[in-house]
Amino acid sequence: MSIPLLFGPYGSGELPANIKDYGVNARWFHGFNEANFAACAEQKLEACVEFKTFRADFQKYPKLIPIGVYGKPIRYGRLVQGVCLSQKDFLAEIEEQLLAGMKQFKPRGIWLDYLTYAGWFETSQPDLQESCFCRDCIADFCNTAAVDATAPEEILASYSEEWKNYKCRKIADLALHYSRLIKARLPDCIVGAYMCPWTPDEFNGALTRIFAQNYQWLSEAIDVFTPLIYCSKSGRSPGWGREWLAQSSEFVPAHRKVQLILDALDYSESLTDTAASDVPSWGIQLYAGAPLFHDQDKALTFKHSVETIRNLSRSEEV
Ligand SMILES: [Zn+2]
Repeated sequence: MSIPLLFGPYGSGELPANIKDYGVNARWFHGFNEANFAACAEQKLEACVEFKTFRADFQKYPKLIPIGVYGKPIRYGRLVQGVCLSQKDFLAEIEEQLLAGMKQFKPRGIWLDYLTYAGWFETSQPDLQESCFCRDCIADFCNTAAVDATAPEEILASYSEEWKNYKCRKIADLALHYSRLIKARLPDCIVGAYMCPWTPDEFNGALTRIFAQNYQWLSEAIDVFTPLIYCSKSGRSPGWGREWLAQSSEFVPAHRKVQLILDALDYSESLTDTAASDVPSWGIQLYAGAPLFHDQDKALTFKHSVETIRNLSRSEEV
């Protein structure tokens, strides 16, 4: 399947009537939202859905909170993602929502969001915790990895590799399950995934150790990987996207695309810096980007960045 270069905002907000003049050909939005599909049809933009997987309101559904190493629910803040993946009813609900959405709409792409174990990464000082050590998750681990250990401390001390691999496999298998559901109904639909934006070595390997996102294993399911390059929120410089792209070939399989999502808060330097990268981002999403297109200078900056990226990507386009 050939993956088109898609550029546009993520999120709600009206776009100007001449939006296509600025290089925008797509927009991403939360869920299978009828009004957003209609707006895309009207403006002839490719409609792409951000689909929520493992995230829930923990106040409302406390049994979904993963269990930490001390046998208690993990600490969490506003941005927490990840749930206890032994909660079968919750997983069934996600699947139903995905199937119902595809019955009604035909998005150009579906980006799976929160496809991780628990934590939050839009910060410069992450609070990283191992999870989930509920009885069911431990039993599933022991069974899958053929390990006999019931205490979290023992698992982490003696079987840390097996534990990390078990979690990464769990996420990759669920990703593959969703991807197959999508491709069976919408064969041309792009399957994307929003990713923790850390390289595999940062924070002591937290990308796989905590969030359980293994690019190699996920690549069977995912066409386009989208790391959240939110520079100010993460305490990084505007060149972060470019630096990330430069390293990406070390861990993203060559047959898969990388499409950054940048933050409107970092506009426009992070975009112009990303556009200047020798390794192109395969299109761009701009988080909370709709309002920027009502400012002509900012909209033109987007257009020029799109042109730069398109020129650089031409040789690779298939
Ligand atoms: Zn659990």
